[in-house]
Amino acid sequence: MTNPIYIVGPCSAESREQVLRTAKELAAVSRALGVPFIFRAGVWKARTSPRTYQGAGEEALAWLSEVKQQFGMDVATEVATPEHVEAALKAGIDYLWIGARSSANPIAVEAISRQLSAISYKPKAVLIKNPVNADAGLWLGNIERLEKTGVKVMSIHRGCNHQPCWKMAHEVRLARPDIPMLLDPSHMSGDAAQVPVLMSKVEELGLDGAMIEVHCCPKEALSDNAQQITPTCLRDTLDPIACRLRVVSVFYPSDGSEELNWLRAEIDELDERLWDTIAARMDVSKRIGEWKKAHGVAPLQPERYQEIVERIKSKVESHNVETDFALRLFDLIHEQSLKEQE
Ligand code: PEP
Ligand code: MN
Repeated sequence: MTNPIYIVGPCSAESREQVLRTAKELAAVSRALGVPFIFRAGVWKARTSPRTYQGAGEEALAWLSEVKQQFGMDVATEVATPEHVEAALKAGIDYLWIGARSSANPIAVEAISRQLSAISYKPKAVLIKNPVNADAGLWLGNIERLEKTGVKVMSIHRGCNHQPCWKMAHEVRLARPDIPMLLDPSHMSGDAAQVPVLMSKVEELGLDGAMIEVHCCPKEALSDNAQQITPTCLRDTLDPIACRLRVVSVFYPSDGSEELNWLRAEIDELDERLWDTIAARMDVSKRIGEWKKAHGVAPLQPERYQEIVERIKSKVESHNVETDFALRLFDLIHEQSLKEQE
């Protein structure tokens, strides 16, 4: 893998000035690093609340055309309907992406695919994000729907609920190693501080690049302001990768350790969930402790303890986990729980 794809730019096109200023700063970073950028900006925003910024609409497509003309960068925007596809392609947008909310709706993806097949203007590629729910099958199905159009298809792993879903992404990677996969560390974390950290995964997992939200003034952004980074931060994040690529011209690692790194990413994700679950359990346990105290009930209730032990025994059987190990682990958790209650 020699040429990582970087799609960078603001979450939303907010004004001509904001788009051109961000593009100008990104064009300078691109020149400084010697790495080409595709400039992104959302024009139609699929937001959770109707009371938040909904995007500038069709008018903003002209601002993206100006970016192309002034700075020579290819441009990308999100489409959610056949009408968006037509308007974007007629305005000369080079790359289209389908967002996580649309990706959760196969009928929407089918309608977009039909339009891509019918229209004579073609994008250089169409990118499909993972659906908002961790459904590898639907993500793969959407890749297939888009492939029928003859347009080049790429995928974007943006995670679910501001968490990565490495298991889902690994499944898609293994099923379709021929489809380039980009990482979207911005929507994956929802946190600008996490974006540079997550970028290490691009190399470790042998991904094909990244889509990163970059805004000239993140604090003032009208959407996703907590996760957008500045062009300077992007430069500092990509600089070590660009340097390595210039020296050895391949992504690290090139020794086949990607597969191990994928499995480690999966296990880190599971550990993360394990700790979240343990923390949530301790929290409920404390509330139970307060109730028991208020009602004069002792923290340890032997019949309740026995009931849980029996449930664990039947549960682990179907999970292929050793009963002895499961009970020892539960005893540790239970002991801590009682300690907290006392
Ligand atoms: C976006 O890229 O701005 C966007 C809306 O992403 P997602 O569909 O991943 O939420
Ligand atoms: Mn966004």
